[in-house]
Amino acid sequence: MHEIGIVRQIVRTVQAFAEENDVRDIREVVVDCGELSLVIPEYLEELYPVIAKDSILRDAKLTVHVVPGLAECEECDEIFNVVENKGICPNCGSFEKTVLSGKECTVKEIVVPDQ
Ligand SMILES: [Zn+2]
Repeated sequence: MHEIGIVRQIVRTVQAFAEENDVRDIREVVVDCGELSLVIPEYLEELYPVIAKDSILRDAKLTVHVVPGLAECEECDEIFNVVENKGICPNCGSFEKTVLSGKECTVKEIVVPDQ
């Protein structure tokens, strides 16, 4: 279960941001989680309170946005959703593709309370 590592990375990223910007309170963290990253958003949400409780994130809400896994077909340049089409180009049936998005799971936004 590599979600633990992802959540730790999220907490570290936000802590580094808070230290750099002299922020003491975080209201919300928005994470973009790609469909192709093999990270299960529900696991992130389950693990988050456990790992965040001793950090600056203890009172911050976690929001996970799922980013669709899109790829471009090498044969016909069709752009398609990899998961919905099981990795096969719906236009020409080719397996050859370049993945454009949805491979990563990263912090997208850090929301701090209004001063
Ligand atoms: Zn194609």
